[in-house]
Amino acid sequence: MEAYIELIVSSYTGYANYLWYEITNPHWKNYFYWLIGVSLFFLMLEWVKPWRKNQAKFRQDFWLDFFYMFFNFFLFSLIIYNAASDVVVNIFKDFLALFGIRNLVAIHLETWPGWLQLGALFLIRDFIQWNVHRLLHRVPWLWEFHKVHHSVQEMGFAAHLRYHWMENVVYRTIEYIPLAMIGFGIDDFFIVHIFTLAVGHFNHSNLRVSLGPLKYFFNNPQMHIWHHAKHLPDGHPYGINYGITLSIWDYLFKTAVIPHDGRDIELGFPGSEHFPTTFVGQNLHGFGRNANTEVTQESETASNA
Ligand SMILES: [Zn+2]
Ligand SMILES: [Zn+2]
Repeated sequence: MEAYIELIVSSYTGYANYLWYEITNPHWKNYFYWLIGVSLFFLMLEWVKPWRKNQAKFRQDFWLDFFYMFFNFFLFSLIIYNAASDVVVNIFKDFLALFGIRNLVAIHLETWPGWLQLGALFLIRDFIQWNVHRLLHRVPWLWEFHKVHHSVQEMGFAAHLRYHWMENVVYRTIEYIPLAMIGFGIDDFFIVHIFTLAVGHFNHSNLRVSLGPLKYFFNNPQMHIWHHAKHLPDGHPYGINYGITLSIWDYLFKTAVIPHDGRDIELGFPGSEHFPTTFVGQNLHGFGRNANTEVTQESETASNA
């Protein structure tokens, strides 16, 4: 027990020091400045060549989403996740040790060249995340948390990181075992994180970019806007276009649907007009009573229809 408490304290202080170091020491592998840089890049592109030309430069909820960006990318880790996940991982390891399992690694990629290991991690992780995303839409209590992301009414790059912090918990928990079963010989996945950050911003951006045949591989704004459609096409009551970074899973598993140009479609979900509009309200939604309000009933009826 004492070991766990020590771990919590050292995780907190370690992360706080790390965060402060990141802010005060710009260097090329700095998440803080990469987040700012990638965001500014898409903000500029949206201003120079917007897809929806009449959308305001600072669209509806821009600043709310701006806050979410830093909350989900940094503060959440600082406040809860970093310490909690270290503890959970250690409890899990201690639990496995009771059964004599000391090592989960079943697949060894250590001998592969670095770039191939990075590619493998990226591909496996994206496929796991695509599955988790589908779960978020299918399991009613998870959908209540995921509604935060779908409450976006006007789309822009910053909407990428508008999501409930519980999603971090769900994604990391489900990812943990399969990824722990793969032995990697590198521990620096910085480039994968920045790449997925950039593609995530891109998917949500107010840009029209034709990827040509690459659209069957990479997610893009013309595809992802339909994931946010308020009225889903017939035969897809839970959702379409679940892709995170890659679109290939949707094409393979027949959940890719682009009925027509989605530039001006209505976004949200049935009942989203009653969804909380503040950070606190949105973060309380999903816990307890308010998850079972009329909004849920309405969307349930609508999706069963
Ligand atoms: Zn979704
Ligand atoms: Zn989205």
